[in-house]
Amino acid sequence: PHIHDVVIVGGGSAGISTASSLLKRRGLDIAIVEPSTDHYYQPGWTMVGGGVFDVAVTRRDMAGVIPKGVTWVQQAATSFQPEYNQVTLADGTTLAYRQLVVCPGIRLAWEKIAGLSETLGKNGVTSNYRYELAPYTWDLVRNLKSGRAIFSQPPMPIKCAGAPQKAMYLSCDQWLDEGVLGDIEVEFRNAGAVLFGVEAYVPALMDYVERYDIQLKLGSNLIAVDGPARKATFATAGGELTREFDMLHVVPPQVAPDFVAQSPLAAENGFVDVDQFTLRHNRYENVWGLGDAGSMPNAKTAAAARKQAPIVAVNLLAVLDGKEPVSDYDGYGSCPLTVERGKIVLAEFGYGGKLLPSFPTWLIDGTKPARLSWLLKSEALPWIYWNGMLKGHEWLVKPAPRA
Ligand code: FAD
Repeated sequence: PHIHDVVIVGGGSAGISTASSLLKRRGLDIAIVEPSTDHYYQPGWTMVGGGVFDVAVTRRDMAGVIPKGVTWVQQAATSFQPEYNQVTLADGTTLAYRQLVVCPGIRLAWEKIAGLSETLGKNGVTSNYRYELAPYTWDLVRNLKSGRAIFSQPPMPIKCAGAPQKAMYLSCDQWLDEGVLGDIEVEFRNAGAVLFGVEAYVPALMDYVERYDIQLKLGSNLIAVDGPARKATFATAGGELTREFDMLHVVPPQVAPDFVAQSPLAAENGFVDVDQFTLRHNRYENVWGLGDAGSMPNAKTAAAARKQAPIVAVNLLAVLDGKEPVSDYDGYGSCPLTVERGKIVLAEFGYGGKLLPSFPTWLIDGTKPARLSWLLKSEALPWIYWNGMLKGHEWLVKPAPRA
């Protein structure tokens, strides 16, 4: 059978960037396994829910983002046989590889919240976590003039941990503008114990919680929704609590894709078991993992994948040449917190919550709301994503040598 130099499972932010990064460095026979005809710029969905972007700008045809010369295998991968250097596909056929890169993202587990799937997109229940639903968030926000709006956040891990509260701040900003915020009771119900995982950003966020008069409820985990009755049930330390709502923005619990979790590649938590620095699999030397599907403890963001892709590329090529990995990932991830239309708190940090700002403080102090950060998010980053990251241009993200 034909053996590809590299098989990449998943053509999302991480998979396309890795293919491009590899091809920038060397001519290789690469196959991308990806069932979807659409490629999404998910960071744009927060802006769609806030009425800033049209949803159409967050989607492109997959065919248009797969780099030239790469074989697109338009199927889902269903299992891995790493001992045989083989991936099995939905139609039962297999692909053989020299090196394997696994990046099929994280699975949104909507079904874990009872009653949710039936009511998503109606009865005031929405989520920026899905392309078709983000525009409904903006519909609800524009039409709500009074009542109770609840924003939920599930237990970690989730992709873009700031997104649940970003949706809330942009909604509140709109209601403040319209002069109706005083008639809307806003609750942030977060399963976690803190507003944001990196302390340096919390004071700036708390200022907005106060400005918008948001009821901050930590340790409150959404477990059931009754759409027609407009009731949401939360598990809390004090037992179950049912709240009525007029609008409910849900962020679903998130888990490793099942076919990864059930495979020999999985770590205990179900994600691809890789070394957090080299991104090489901990047991299979020709397997790599990155993006949301990786077991590393970084913030799962497209910004992280932007840093990881070139690191996987240089390490994989070194191993193809019979050498050891040459570059270490520092855990960089970024979460631009849209605290109001026109201002962002630009969280950028690595392993252990170490702040890793891309800009000098005099230009952008990430711990403070800033207009320049908003321009970065609304103008620069989408362009950088489509024309830089997905094309293998590595401005700002040169792979660092091993520590
Ligand atoms: P994805 O981009 O999700 O791609 C996974 C791909 O794998 C998909 O194309 C999927 O079809 C494919 N796949 C799935 N199953 C299989 C299979 N069985 N076989 C083959 N292929 C498969 N990040 C930021 O940096 N900044 C932000 O501001 C930001 N905001 C966000 C806001 C929202 C609302 C959301 C939802 C996400 C946000 N993110 C943000 C996170 C960012 O989108 C993800 O971290 C990023 O897309 C991860 O890339 P990935 O390639 O790992 O996964």
